[in-house]
Amino acid sequence: MTLKVGILAVQGDVEEHEGAVEAAGEELGVEVDTVWVRYPEDVEGLDALIVPGGESTTIGRIMERHDLVDPVVEEIESGLPVMGTCAGLVLLAKEVVPQAHPGREVEIEQPCLGVLDVRVVRNAFGRQRESFEVDLEVEGMDEPFTAVFIRAPGVEKVLSDDVDVLAEFGDYIVAVEQGNVLATAFHPELADDPRFHVKLLEKAL
Ligand code: GLN
Repeated sequence: MTLKVGILAVQGDVEEHEGAVEAAGEELGVEVDTVWVRYPEDVEGLDALIVPGGESTTIGRIMERHDLVDPVVEEIESGLPVMGTCAGLVLLAKEVVPQAHPGREVEIEQPCLGVLDVRVVRNAFGRQRESFEVDLEVEGMDEPFTAVFIRAPGVEKVLSDDVDVLAEFGDYIVAVEQGNVLATAFHPELADDPRFHVKLLEKAL
């Protein structure tokens, strides 16, 4: 069996996800064929999709320019398993707010896919902690996962009961799952540990 896994490749860390998803395939004993998704026709026939980290505003704008938003949303809404990491979490979210400021309720104008019922704060961990690594307890995983955070967003609020919280760190939720949608605030592709990619592929089996 071969799983065709698309990686949104308009900007951000694409190669690292290729390596991680191939490792996940080996672990599960399934063949993985990766496809770089740049235009609407690349979305056809995928078994799973990864929305990588990078700069969420840039990724969203390029997706709009390439007419990718509607086809991707349609596929996800009809059940395509998807994993968003870091900027990918921001892109999947229903609500996005800028960096945490006490008392603010401002929504920023940035293109989003709006398929995950969470409110995300961009750059949630502030300037002092731009990037760091932490061993996280993750729901359903026996051993902690070494999570690499890089100017990471955080989920400050879950907007529906359909969302399962998989991990929390500090004031934020940092990994969630909602049906076919999986998202992390950190970069599982940098961990040399394919457990999140395995989780994604299992949704496609
Ligand atoms: N801070 C970035 C954003 O909100 C995400 C950073 C990342 O993906 N490493 O777009």
